[in-house]
Amino acid sequence: MKTVVLKFGGTSVGSIKRIKKVANIIVSYKKKKLGVIVVSSAISGATNDLIKKTKELSNNFDPAEYDVLLSSGEQVACALIAGRLKHLGYKSRSWMSWQLPIITDGPHCASRINRINKNRILKFVNSGGIPIITGFQGINLNNRITTLGRGGTDASAIMLAKFFNANACDIYTDVDGVYTTDPRNHSKAKKIQKISYDEMLEMASLGAKVMQPTSVQDAKLNNISFSVKSSFVKRKGTLITGNKKAFSNQIITGITSTKNDAKVTIIGVKDKPGVAASIFKPLSLNQINVDMVVQNISLNSKETDLTFTIRSEDLKKTEKTIKQNKNISFRKISYDNNVSKVSIIGVGMITTPGITYRMFQALALKKINIMVISTSEIKISVLISNKNVKKAIVALHKEFKLD
Ligand code: ASP
Ligand code: MG
Repeated sequence: MKTVVLKFGGTSVGSIKRIKKVANIIVSYKKKKLGVIVVSSAISGATNDLIKKTKELSNNFDPAEYDVLLSSGEQVACALIAGRLKHLGYKSRSWMSWQLPIITDGPHCASRINRINKNRILKFVNSGGIPIITGFQGINLNNRITTLGRGGTDASAIMLAKFFNANACDIYTDVDGVYTTDPRNHSKAKKIQKISYDEMLEMASLGAKVMQPTSVQDAKLNNISFSVKSSFVKRKGTLITGNKKAFSNQIITGITSTKNDAKVTIIGVKDKPGVAASIFKPLSLNQINVDMVVQNISLNSKETDLTFTIRSEDLKKTEKTIKQNKNISFRKISYDNNVSKVSIIGVGMITTPGITYRMFQALALKKINIMVISTSEIKISVLISNKNVKKAIVALHKEFKLD
């Protein structure tokens, strides 16, 4: 029997009406004589509410208890879906991940699925049943419940598809696919039909909120193709795949932007070997993620300026860490909280010269100042002022013929 894994995100199960719709989607697969394995997230908002409670009780809530608590949201959604399917006359039941079990590795709150015991589910599917499995969680070797990081049901779906050798994995969400850029930023955004894992990974990491980045990594490592679809409207989604034949000759596939960046500049840093390490080590010890970095060449070889970006929410912590750092001396430190990173992404970049130039030129023509630049094989990112983001996206979308 051909098997499909269907994943439903929080908004897809966000109300009773939507859960009914989800049940109908599941039935439509069942009617095609497919083996159907369902994995669901918690009702949208439920996980946030639980996190809020932990914060009210402690600013250092125990991670193991945090996982027990957070995993409960999915239990509710799965029971509701299974109950609805039974109401419609189908054989269905819910499964908590620990009941399979789904075994995870790694720390609480950020575990990864390592192994899935398939026996019970296979038997159930082969007898015509539809299992509804809780996403976002598993159990570790100490028998404690773990979670997979925010948005982790995506990873559950990919790993279920891997272990059950599914013929398809459909990720149902509130958008009908992956777009060339966020449709809310640009009316000319177009749905992408097919995109490679690498491009999707960059898109997901650089601000396209469609998939949890680690789940895309799991898909790439295990070569699991998947589709992103809407549970609200019946439309063809976007296929994410490693199959090279699938791609058009588009050079740039998508444009993303981030919202929560802040820029820090340390002026007049004493320039000596090891200075960058002295600055960044305490930041990493404080879990502050540094993204883009530029260091100016010092003209007098005594002093240099260093600029880097972090998430806005880390700005206070960063300022404190740098000011308390006895291993560096500098003249001045300045911040800018109103910056965004705009990135163009496409595997076509590897073989096409002149992309960097075209990007900078397009922004220059719109009089948009670039503060920091960073590149990888398949993406170019620029840091610009928040107020220019929309303008930049419109210009780049046109320049790279995505309109
Ligand atoms: N419910 C979890 C979260 O909100 C997992 C998920 O949505 O995939 O992060
Ligand atoms: Mg999600």
